[in-house]
Amino acid sequence: MAETALPLARKAADVLAARGVENARLEAELLLAWVLGIGRLQLYLQHDRPVSEAELERFRAAVRRRLRREPVQYIVGTAHFRQLELRVDRRVLIPRPETEELVGAVLDWARRAAGAGERRLVALDIGTGSGAIALSLAREGPFRRVVATDVSPAALELARENAAALGLDEAVELRTGSLWDAVSPGERFDVIVSNPPYVAEADRATLAPEVVEWEPAGALFGGPDGYEAIEPLVRGAPSHLAPGGLLALEVGAEQATRVVERIHETGAYEGARVMRDLAGRERIVLAVARGPVEG
Ligand code: SAM
Ligand code: GLN
Repeated sequence: MAETALPLARKAADVLAARGVENARLEAELLLAWVLGIGRLQLYLQHDRPVSEAELERFRAAVRRRLRREPVQYIVGTAHFRQLELRVDRRVLIPRPETEELVGAVLDWARRAAGAGERRLVALDIGTGSGAIALSLAREGPFRRVVATDVSPAALELARENAAALGLDEAVELRTGSLWDAVSPGERFDVIVSNPPYVAEADRATLAPEVVEWEPAGALFGGPDGYEAIEPLVRGAPSHLAPGGLLALEVGAEQATRVVERIHETGAYEGARVMRDLAGRERIVLAVARGPVEG
């Protein structure tokens, strides 16, 4: 008898769950819907839709990939981030929900800073990966220009594909280079945002296999203690922020206190604010550069 959609997804979910995959049911449904070329909810509406032999083969292949702990987003080749559907593959980190919150915090600030209407701000996203942050700012925010950098040329290729697919290639300028190398001396931005690699090498063993075995190491690890990118970002940003401009960083769950200390040490910021993510962890640090000098 031919397999039908929903029971097939259920069977696959049992296999995934038995092998320790979290959210097995959701993921089995996502994979089958992708193979069938329909939305996940359509699976329920078409629950007894017959699945052809060819579709079954492709679904089995997808489930085998998931059993090797490859993330669902790499298997289907896309990830959702705020309003965007982004192409993702092993060249880039899969964008995370907490980074959507980082973008939300930047947008709140930028809308207040820009006032009504005008797209007048310029933003810099350091370590753009898939382009998630930069492309969202360009799509949603009051920016006339967004510069996005990455040290990985491979990641930038994918960011370029995403920008083009979203029609944002004019709005977002991509540059290769490590940290401040991609920025000219004296070049200034209203907003500098980064989700840098911040996992400590020492914490490698705590990462899920989906992360440590599949995502690019250069997107994850920030040196022995995790601060190798964050600290130069904090020290360097004042030279590249407009007076009163915003530095917005995603940091690891235990890192906010030290990052705020570093911010104070520079003497170049008015202060720092820490925001919690939806899970209640301190994951976002915001700091505003001193100035403008009042006459
Ligand atoms: N911005 C994307 C996001 O939030 O989903 C990707 C963030 S991922 C955690 C960090 C990114 O920074 C990776 O794409 C990595 O290649 C890049 N990166 C790592 N070291 C860097 C450096 N020194 N300078 C610039 N980019 C760097
Ligand atoms: N959020 C990723 C994780 O917890 C790390 C990403 C990063 O280092 N910026 O695995």
